[in-house]
Amino acid sequence: MKSGTDYDVIIVGGGPAGLSAALLLGRCRRRVLVCDDGNPRNAASPMSHGVFTRDGTPPAELLRLGREQLVPYGVEVRDVHVTEAQSVERGFQVVLAGGTVLRCRRLLLATGVVDELPRIAGIEPFYGRSVWHCPYCDGWETRDQPLAAYGHGHDGAELALGLKTWTDDVILFTDGGAPPSHEHQVLLRREGIPWNEGRIARLEGSGGQLERVVLVSGEALLRRGLFFHTQPRQRSLLAQSLGCAFTRRGAVKTRTLEDTGIPGLYVAGDAARDLQFVIVAAAEGTKAALAINKSLRMEDCPAPNPPRESPFAVPEAEPAQS
Ligand SMILES: Cc1cc2nc3c(=O)[nH]c(=O)nc-3n(C[C@H](O)[C@H](O)[C@H](O)COP(=O)(O)OP(=O)(O)OC[C@H]3O[C@@H](n4cnc5c(N)ncnc54)[C@H](O)[C@@H]3O)c2cc1C
Repeated sequence: MKSGTDYDVIIVGGGPAGLSAALLLGRCRRRVLVCDDGNPRNAASPMSHGVFTRDGTPPAELLRLGREQLVPYGVEVRDVHVTEAQSVERGFQVVLAGGTVLRCRRLLLATGVVDELPRIAGIEPFYGRSVWHCPYCDGWETRDQPLAAYGHGHDGAELALGLKTWTDDVILFTDGGAPPSHEHQVLLRREGIPWNEGRIARLEGSGGQLERVVLVSGEALLRRGLFFHTQPRQRSLLAQSLGCAFTRRGAVKTRTLEDTGIPGLYVAGDAARDLQFVIVAAAEGTKAALAINKSLRMEDCPAPNPPRESPFAVPEAEPAQS
């Protein structure tokens, strides 16, 4: 660690991305702090699916294991909100809730995203149990069941068509929003998916199990699961305040090894541009950690000119080698 800094790396966010990055950086003998304020995206879900060797594990258990496995490497974890971060000479200054100011050489944001639930009365008790946004995460659990796809226009129609992977019984609900286009209507008919343009009054069911979608007209349609199209937003404003570029859909633009183009600043996991799964977030954390360690090593021991290896020099489309 260089003098004048408290840590080599501060990681904001202790979800799969942040903890995975911390693991590799700890193993690289870096002095690492993880700050997490305890709002993981999938908190409402009882099980994480599709996670290699951990299929069906509760999200909180994955995080517990992730933290536990940092202990041998001396990684520090604090349950605290990071309120500010800014670039300073040779790194970053980070402010924690309560006012503590820390300095680090590299900053990794693994701050995740937040989903906006559709505004439907009675939806909350079902969220994560029979109402979800991701059929790849929870579609298998509802296979062969009567399902609802909730969404407008193009996105709603695509969601409904996609659900045919798991069941033959899908109804698309547009809830008074944009109906499917003519082209999508042709596809939906071909796939045997009816669409309902009526406004939804409420969801009904018990014990977290959806049973009915009730329309304002009074009609009630029996459904055992509902998937909605979501446009998540960044959980934290830190990336924005640090000057990151964003995609049209609100993800931070990153390159192959999760660097942002702002020297020393990396973003991994759902907050960055890629698929949003636990295992992808963890993999991105690992990629960022590798890039961070290499950049620290180069700073401490500059390569001859031109540099032999630079994480910033990896072309966008090529797979990186460790
Ligand atoms: C209901 C639901 C079910 C899901 N099911 C699955 C599934 O079955 N399988 C699967 O692969 N994926 C699933 N996902 C997606 C999965 O949750 C995400 O892909 C994954 O959590 C992303 O990890 P992450 O580390 O990027 O972000 P997160 O897990 O969201 O972690 C980010 C962390 O950063 C912290 N944080 C944010 N800002 C700050 C700050 N300023 N200071 C301190 N801490 C901060 C947050 O509190 C949070 O703990 C599901 C998502 C939802 C919503």
